[in-house]
Amino acid sequence: MLKPSANLMFLLTLAGAALIVALGVMPLEHGVARLQNADEPLAMPAAGELDHRFHLLSAWQSASVPDSPRFDPPMGSEQGALVYNAQKFWEMNEKRGGHHTGDDLNGIGGMNTDLGDPIHAAADGLVVYTGEPSPGWGNIVVLAHKAPDGRKLHSMYAHLHRIDVTRGSLVARGARVGAAGTANGYYPAHLHFEMRATEGVDIGAGYAMFPLNRLDPAATVAALRRAAPDRHSVSPLALAVAGAAPVSRP
Ligand SMILES: [Zn+2]
Repeated sequence: MLKPSANLMFLLTLAGAALIVALGVMPLEHGVARLQNADEPLAMPAAGELDHRFHLLSAWQSASVPDSPRFDPPMGSEQGALVYNAQKFWEMNEKRGGHHTGDDLNGIGGMNTDLGDPIHAAADGLVVYTGEPSPGWGNIVVLAHKAPDGRKLHSMYAHLHRIDVTRGSLVARGARVGAAGTANGYYPAHLHFEMRATEGVDIGAGYAMFPLNRLDPAATVAALRRAAPDRHSVSPLALAVAGAAPVSRP
């Protein structure tokens, strides 16, 4: 019979061997290499439990979010004409088991007549997310804004047929961020448009029991169209992006 100390040594050796084998066969995607994906916000894990610390904007990103003096509807004309809202914010959807977290904007032609229609940035903003978090969401663009009332707001454009901006770039109000799509054929083409009061990117679900950081998109845009008159001039950011000489703000 082995003495207790020899028994312990034997068990430790076995455990060590098992650990070495486990490390050897562990797939790389569970390691550090998987933590960064071009389509994800910085350091956001591609799979597994969400860690909300990873969704906060970096200090550099926060400093890059532009003033957004005015907001406009993201589809149709600058006034939102030629578009109807098929499913308004916070309507209860029994089939999906929750309240709708955005507005479903459609071209007035109905069904897929608006497939490929341009989707516009609701306001001057920083692109903080581009990607396809799931087939049902399809392509998504998220912009970060500094509203005239000081709030940090995000606008989110989902089910896109195509994404026309890159993460980290500045876009001017009205710039094309993508095209209306069907989220891989899951729905007739439309834009799922959300407005959020938030400091970080967390895509979440399109139906929920609690609004959390979600705002009524139509009401928020309508309220923020009434910017101070002296800020209604041509957006300095639009000029800067177009390569024009910088202009001084009043
Ligand atoms: Zn929707």
